[in-house]
Amino acid sequence: MEKICGAVRLSPESSTTARLLLPLTRNLSRQHGVVSFNRLVGVRLPHRHLTSLTSLTTHCSPSPSPPVSASVATETSAKVIDGKAIAKQIRDEITEEVSKMKNAIGVTPGLAVILVGDRKDSATYVRNKKKACESVGINSFEVRLPEDCTEQEVLKFISDFNDDPSVHGILVQLPLPSHMNEQNILNAVSIEKDVDGFHPLNIGRLAMRGREPLFVPCTPKGCIELLHRYGINIKGKKAVVIGRSNIVGMPAALLLQREDATISIVHSRTKNPEEFIREADIIISAVGQPNMVRGNWIKPGAVIIDVGINPVEDTKSPRGYRLVGDVCYEEACKVASAITPVPGGVGPMTIAMLLSNTLISAKRIHNFQ
Ligand code: NAP
Repeated sequence: MEKICGAVRLSPESSTTARLLLPLTRNLSRQHGVVSFNRLVGVRLPHRHLTSLTSLTTHCSPSPSPPVSASVATETSAKVIDGKAIAKQIRDEITEEVSKMKNAIGVTPGLAVILVGDRKDSATYVRNKKKACESVGINSFEVRLPEDCTEQEVLKFISDFNDDPSVHGILVQLPLPSHMNEQNILNAVSIEKDVDGFHPLNIGRLAMRGREPLFVPCTPKGCIELLHRYGINIKGKKAVVIGRSNIVGMPAALLLQREDATISIVHSRTKNPEEFIREADIIISAVGQPNMVRGNWIKPGAVIIDVGINPVEDTKSPRGYRLVGDVCYEEACKVASAITPVPGGVGPMTIAMLLSNTLISAKRIHNFQ
């Protein structure tokens, strides 16, 4: 299967139907990586979200500056990095391994999700995690608590799951009600079951040479997996990560560094970000700004992993909006050598990585190779 930006070339077995991602404005749903990938579900965008959509038409707006001569290639067609197809491949591999484990030692990996309150979007995320688990044979356990429950009640469930040998991964669905201390609750999850990979010990180990985290955060892990599976060499390359959030940008930069790339991190205070971005052989963008990275910011032949999921107004769409990445796709695919689409790029990988982390956890706990 090979997809080329602009003209799409597909083998018959390729799946090209882009599933509509659940578009969340970042302010409304500050989620951890595992939660973010649950943006993978097709639901109607609630009206309150529509009010904060960035007003854009279906195309990138005109470039504010003239294109640099290096990036005016007009006929180049980047290879499309098909996250949906790779995620399916990974889920198939997980299904096989889960079955092997069950047959060999009678253990089925289990993921527990705690949902507090009655937010519809959170409920949808949890339902989709459950479905994803079922699809690969992983057991899922769900606890739903009312909005007005106490922090102690949540902590009690976490403690029970920490002690439960049939649970190998624990997720607390965010956001939590405002009367709860998120840090207290997340810190209560055993590091051995922290399949989100956000525990400070996991992040600390990720940052240190010679140390291994027990889990790598799902979205950045999915970005690197895409590079690996497309045979893109990282070692010795110049990479730029746009965004430095705890859940995506920062761990993505740490991962690239572990792969021997030389990293620049661009953030909201970076002056002239395009100057850094133009230097990069590999770009990972996790900003949340629709179409921010223009074609003329990109070095010809660069590889682009676009994590951003941004709903923008689209009057031509039956839903009145569509999703775009941080990178202006139609410009970038004329300059880059490979690029992830939005949707259908990084998004599907995040949930596949959650399943992968749960399997890894079960294997480690039961010493199953
Ligand atoms: P976040 O916590 O809001 O972080 C955004 C980062 O971008 C911050 O580090 C911020 O810099 C930086 N930034 C903001 N505006 C910028 C600008 N104009 N120029 C340069 N840097 C800028 O967001 P996040 O949770 O990392 O998510 C980022 C995007 O990825 C969102 O669109 C989100 O929906 C998407 N996402 C997708 C998945 C997936 O599965 N595909 C998973 C998670 C997130 P400062 O640090 O200086 O504020």
